[in-house]
Amino acid sequence: MSRVALVTGGTRGIGAAISLALKNAGYKVAASYAGNDEAAKAFSEANNIAVFKWDVGDFDACRAGIETVEQQVGPIDVLVNNAGITRDGTLHKMALDQWRDVISTNLDSLFNMTRNVIEGMRERGFGRIISISSINGQKGQFGQANYAAAKAGVIGFTKSIALENASKGITANVVAPGYIGTEMVRAVPAEVLNSKIIPQIPVGRLGEPEEIAECVLFLASDKAGFMTGSTLTANGGQYMD
Ligand code: NDP
Repeated sequence: MSRVALVTGGTRGIGAAISLALKNAGYKVAASYAGNDEAAKAFSEANNIAVFKWDVGDFDACRAGIETVEQQVGPIDVLVNNAGITRDGTLHKMALDQWRDVISTNLDSLFNMTRNVIEGMRERGFGRIISISSINGQKGQFGQANYAAAKAGVIGFTKSIALENASKGITANVVAPGYIGTEMVRAVPAEVLNSKIIPQIPVGRLGEPEEIAECVLFLASDKAGFMTGSTLTANGGQYMD
């Protein structure tokens, strides 16, 4: 019997690599996304992965979306909380919407998604919850008070639910990537990437989405059953917590 995995933001970037890695490992995969229908359609058709559209910042939309996924694909065994955005700006110039949008998509989403799968996982006695944080949630980052707060919150949330659900066959872990070559990072001007960001990465390059997907694949597996509440960092040696 193949397990069912739901990857939020699973149609582009790191999430797409995670969806694909899980599919190639034999999982039945559902990938959610926010609004880029074109990218989602192309990803779905190229890889034969079911895609579903809703805003992870909206609790009721998450509940309805998860219900649809469970009807069409099956009860969710593995939840990957990957969807995320940036709305950078220094605090003294940050608008309330920049704060709220990032907290909604990057942190409220963990409650909205996990709350709606946790009871089923507890009843079935198995679950894997893997949430994507960031190096900048671990160390802070200039211009990212909103993002760093949300990504640090991912770690506290995960440790707490790891404790609450450890006796029910459910693990909860975090993957904290460093700079990965997705659209989010490629949007940074090449000059800034080459002069400021890459020189700070001891391995001397950006990470690949597939390298983050491998971490998720391990944490999703039965072999990772003794690992819970942990944060797996994959950042080329840039920050060691
Ligand atoms: P991308 O921008 O490439 O992809 C983001 C994905 O999330 C898309 O599928 C997007 O959907 C979806 N998404 C965005 N907002 C919402 C929402 N409100 N509801 C549902 N889905 C949403 O991001 P990355 O692959 O770069 O990042 C993935 C995760 O990894 C994020 O949590 C990010 O913070 C984290 N991360 C990334 C790093 C990097 O270097 N790239 C470094 C550290 C952490 P749509 O296509 O419809 O827009």
